[in-house]
Amino acid sequence: MRAASGANVPAEDDVDGMTAVLQGQEDSIAGAPAGLLVHAWSRICDRMKTEVGEVEYRTWLRQITVGPLDGDEITLLLPTRFLRDWVRGQYGDRLNALWNAELPSIRRVELQVARPGDLPAVQPENASGGDEDTGNVQSASVTSAGAAAPAPPAPADLKHDLTAPLDPRFTFESFVVGKPNEFAYACARRVAEKPSSPGFNPLFLYGGVGLGKTHLMHAIGTQLIAEGRSTVAYMSAEKFMYRFIGAIRSQSTMEFKEQLRSVDVLMIDDLQFLIGKDNTQEEFFHTFNALVDAGRQIIVSADKSPSDLSGLEDRLRTRLGCGMVADIHATTFELRISILEAKALASGVTVPAKVLEFLAHKITSNVRELEGALNRLIAHANLFGRPVTLESTHEVLHDILKAHDRRVTIEEIQRKVAEHWNIRLTDMSSARRARAVARPRQVAMYLAKQLTSRSLPEIGRKFGNRDHTTVMHAVQRVTELMAADSAFAEDVELLRRMLEN
Ligand code: ADP
Ligand code: MG
Repeated sequence: MRAASGANVPAEDDVDGMTAVLQGQEDSIAGAPAGLLVHAWSRICDRMKTEVGEVEYRTWLRQITVGPLDGDEITLLLPTRFLRDWVRGQYGDRLNALWNAELPSIRRVELQVARPGDLPAVQPENASGGDEDTGNVQSASVTSAGAAAPAPPAPADLKHDLTAPLDPRFTFESFVVGKPNEFAYACARRVAEKPSSPGFNPLFLYGGVGLGKTHLMHAIGTQLIAEGRSTVAYMSAEKFMYRFIGAIRSQSTMEFKEQLRSVDVLMIDDLQFLIGKDNTQEEFFHTFNALVDAGRQIIVSADKSPSDLSGLEDRLRTRLGCGMVADIHATTFELRISILEAKALASGVTVPAKVLEFLAHKITSNVRELEGALNRLIAHANLFGRPVTLESTHEVLHDILKAHDRRVTIEEIQRKVAEHWNIRLTDMSSARRARAVARPRQVAMYLAKQLTSRSLPEIGRKFGNRDHTTVMHAVQRVTELMAADSAFAEDVELLRRMLEN
């Protein structure tokens, strides 16, 4: 039920620097004057901000605009379905309660995706009167959940968020778990559920580039923030260093330290960047001790284990290694396939299993590159409306595949495979057909096909002048056997990895 007025409506209503754009017709909606809605929303935003912290507020809630009020139901508009679902799941009940507390006639909050023509009733930007200009943003970002008193303004040089934004796509749900990362994943989940548990503080995640360290850290942060129980600061070690140096320059190290030491969970990504930066290491060490002593959680990532990070101060190394140290290993073929399947599914584009297998074979070093290749295929398919095929894959990823082309030779493959199964190298080209010899030979042909750019006839020639159909048969047979016999598949994978390095 809407009050049908519309004649003398203010188009704009400025309240405390907040512009309320009314929906055109009403100065009072269902008995609630528009000004009331504006004030109510402003207070709700402020309240949410102190409850959930500035970072979370900015990530999830700032983009909400207030739509129409209809009877006892207020509509809130969000730009995307993802945001709407997230806000509904995480904050729906709280928003309901807050609206009801502000305006008791409101009993329900409806969350909708804004359509292009939707004009907001109230825009929430700068809802708290522009405190961004005073530098409060950063302070607010480390204000504990529920702490009502606003933090004092920070000096101008500290006017950024203490924490870098978390990528909302990096969640536990979107992380594909397999043997190489299951331990790190389990540790990350554990810390997200129960920060500062004995034995898990600090959590030290390490592994090569693009294997999911940052993903897991963001997942921990996002979960903790969503639950609203902890304040989280996440930053790269490099950023930590720049902040620290900046604080020294502006003589505000005390504020910087206080801010760092006021968070519940501090995450420092890519710690290897602090190597050789003695002052920064020292500062990190003190922050680290202060936080751990106060029962807060530290999470650190690096490309190597604490003991292998040469150039790190010994006392810091010792401290870093005394919680939980979890290694993310290089991906296996199976994990690469699972990751590709998950990402293809999420994209909505059908990618044939053959293409996924091909990519998982070719791009082995790093999930980021694998993801990049798949994304390019998907973008191409969407752009041109053509299905993804093995052929189009070769075309579209020409440059990437070339860069990944193996330099390994057929002779090397034969040697490694012969060693592995303890047969003579000459048996790779001999006419013997006993299985103990024939099977390794087939594996070598299979690997030659996978790891080199040689054609089937070329490969056949290197195996005692065999026909290309024999090579084709070998490739098929090994593929079948790998699917049927996991021990055999592991053997072949192991060989592949040895040859790739
Ligand atoms: P790192 O920090 O270890 O260099 P990232 O966490 O940035 O690696 O991961 C690189 C990319 O690969 C990200 O887009 C991430 O989402 C993706 N990724 C890595 N591992 C996985 C996994 N197990 N499941 C899903 N995506 C992954
Ligand atoms: Mg990273």
